Amino acid sequence: MLSSKTKNNAIETQPEKEGSTSVFWNSCNVNCGGLCLLRTHVRNGKIIRIETDNMGDDSYGNHQIRACLRGRSMRKRVYAPERLKYPLKRVGRRGEGKFERISWEKAFDLVAEKIKIIKEKYGNEAFYINYCTGSIDAMMSKSWPPDSSPMGRLMNCYGGYLNYYNTYSYAQINTALSYTYGKGWAPGNSMSDIANSKLVVFFGNNPAETRMSGGGIIHDLLTAKKRSKTKVVVIDPRYNDTVVAVADEWIPIRPGTDAAMVSGMAYVLINEGLVDKEFISGYCVGYDEEQLPEGIPEGNSYRSYILGLGPDKTAKTPEWASGITGIPEDVIIHLAREIGQAKPAYISQGWGSQRHSNGEQTARAICMLSILTGNVGIQGGNTGARENGYTIPFASFSDLKNPIKTAISVFLWTDAILRGSEMTSKKDGILGADRLQSPIKFIWNFAGNALINQHSDINRTSQILEDDSKCEMIVVIEHFMTSSAKFADILLPAVTNLEENDFAISTRISASDMAYVIFNQKAIEPMFECRSMYDMCAEIAKRLGIWEPYTEGRTRNQWLLYLLEKSRKDLNDLPESLEEAWKMGVYKKKNPGDPFVAYKAFREDPVANPLDTPSGKIEIFSKQLWDLSLEWELPEDDLVPALPEYIMGVEGHSDSLRKKFPLQMITHHYKQRTHSTYGNVDWLKEVAPQQLWINTLDARKRDIQHGDIVLVYNDRGKCILPAKVTRRIMPGVLSLPQGAWFRPDKNNLDRGGCANTLTSLRPSPLAKGNPQHSNLVQVKKYEG
Ligand code: SF4
Repeated sequence: MLSSKTKNNAIETQPEKEGSTSVFWNSCNVNCGGLCLLRTHVRNGKIIRIETDNMGDDSYGNHQIRACLRGRSMRKRVYAPERLKYPLKRVGRRGEGKFERISWEKAFDLVAEKIKIIKEKYGNEAFYINYCTGSIDAMMSKSWPPDSSPMGRLMNCYGGYLNYYNTYSYAQINTALSYTYGKGWAPGNSMSDIANSKLVVFFGNNPAETRMSGGGIIHDLLTAKKRSKTKVVVIDPRYNDTVVAVADEWIPIRPGTDAAMVSGMAYVLINEGLVDKEFISGYCVGYDEEQLPEGIPEGNSYRSYILGLGPDKTAKTPEWASGITGIPEDVIIHLAREIGQAKPAYISQGWGSQRHSNGEQTARAICMLSILTGNVGIQGGNTGARENGYTIPFASFSDLKNPIKTAISVFLWTDAILRGSEMTSKKDGILGADRLQSPIKFIWNFAGNALINQHSDINRTSQILEDDSKCEMIVVIEHFMTSSAKFADILLPAVTNLEENDFAISTRISASDMAYVIFNQKAIEPMFECRSMYDMCAEIAKRLGIWEPYTEGRTRNQWLLYLLEKSRKDLNDLPESLEEAWKMGVYKKKNPGDPFVAYKAFREDPVANPLDTPSGKIEIFSKQLWDLSLEWELPEDDLVPALPEYIMGVEGHSDSLRKKFPLQMITHHYKQRTHSTYGNVDWLKEVAPQQLWINTLDARKRDIQHGDIVLVYNDRGKCILPAKVTRRIMPGVLSLPQGAWFRPDKNNLDRGGCANTLTSLRPSPLAKGNPQHSNLVQVKKYEG
């Protein structure tokens, strides 16, 4: 049996030995926001079983970090027959998937040689590290953020690479809220603060499916709700699992119309005297005409917009909001009154509601409910943004900075291949320079599937990548022949984290109010010829003449020891050696203070602690956006308003394209996969098969029965998959679980049910982010 004792919040363990079976600690590092603990049972050099955390107890802060079915099935990924075994070089057309085996020496030589040529010919801006989050919480094999990854370190030693800003998860909210709350990430109160709330309102926040691990947010939410017994309202087109688990009320809403709902509620709050005027006058700008910045004409305040005194002369009544959102008028009025009367109220949004063509406006609008009711900066309240978690100061593998300062929006890399040197700050949101110096000519892609599967409009993206005169080299480092890997010129097989030593550190997303470090210990020797990313980059560094700055003379284990020692300066109860760390397995630390309250210091003293906005206050009206909308070259139909107004957005509910494609299609995170990771595990496919969620009424109109194979299509692509006919999705809306592996047949019909056959490459107006939930489609029974 496993022995354990608790000391200084850290659990000490002895490695388990059951006859000839050894147990090694490891983690599930994928991008789900979980970071769960795995206990890998090994017999005769082979993994025979994976279990999860069996330490601690049920008291919060010492609770188990239990893995879900995905993590527990990791053995199936390690031993998958389709595992990449050797370095490969493309021999066919790019994307065709034809490769020949080469030696590691040859692979390193080819990559290093091309790096030298690209640098010489186009400069360092021609290198790009694609958005890859398949190994997100690891230390030495981190795939995101790029600067902390091995290939980021390598490129930073060699003159740098083209940066990106934002992510595919939260581009619109991240950009938009920096105009409301100031530069940088706009946090929310921690989920455990719900214990102090009188009402909880979630716009699309769904931790039961997106943060379902034992260490994470859903556990925190359940614990907090139990303590406060507060009412939870969830607004979402889909009756998701968070509704099932904790909600007292579900309000279905048409996708992309949240800002209209908020405006209707703001109308009620203003007219019924439920606005916190003291908070508005002391902490905000732009609420009414008196608060408008100098030079802005009357009628442009938020109050004027809501009451119909602004340029559009339309009062945002609950009736108006009902027509757009599909929510009955009395439901909007009732919820507005509840929010206005319950103090404190915890209002938050997940990231699904902002991943739209009008997502910036949605994100800003939802925050208005917190702002109007003075719930920002107080215990039990929230900013309207997503919850924050507790973190601990653990050292980072690479703190080298990229010498190149130019950055594109993460979603625009396909544009940067096609028309790189034409892209400018005012047209494409380039940061750090007026325009790009070079198109992207070389792509690194490690532990990511966003070259194809997770990027939008797969058919168009494939065409762009197929042309190897544009992007001249793509290096993919992977475990499997994914759809992205098929586009590699050089394809290198990587070890899984069960085949290497590493650390995994919880983040503000995975940790909630208990932070932790998992000390991953290699359970088995590397499979086939697979190698670690750190070692691959060290070999390439040697050929580029930068081995010394890249490695600093350390092996992988020496780095781990160095980082452990460095971290002990702040966390003095960390283990002193790798051997001790592997015995300990996991180091847990509960937040010693109260739950995190975002902008607490600002609330306590806004003069001494101003926000990082031009006014130092919350900017309901943004003069920066007012100016930007006059300066930027925006495509037709793209708007960047200074106020958090409702804008329909491209392929929104009232788009005329609905005559041809009448259904709105969103996507959701699904238990079978973390994005596309685990998408090839048959156990998980059996438990949670890929299905298109369609409402009973929409199915009946089309004679679709539950389980029928259906064809979903628009002008960008088509895919087939079984239908899940259910009243858990509102009429007029389809939801297709994202991340399924793209499997095109010879007619380019995707038989995998991959959502990105249908999504658009047109970026959102301000963040230039991915609008992957704004899709108009049609569906019918598949007759093929
Ligand atoms: S997929 Fe996420 S929730 Fe599941 S084990 Fe891995 S980290 Fe945990």
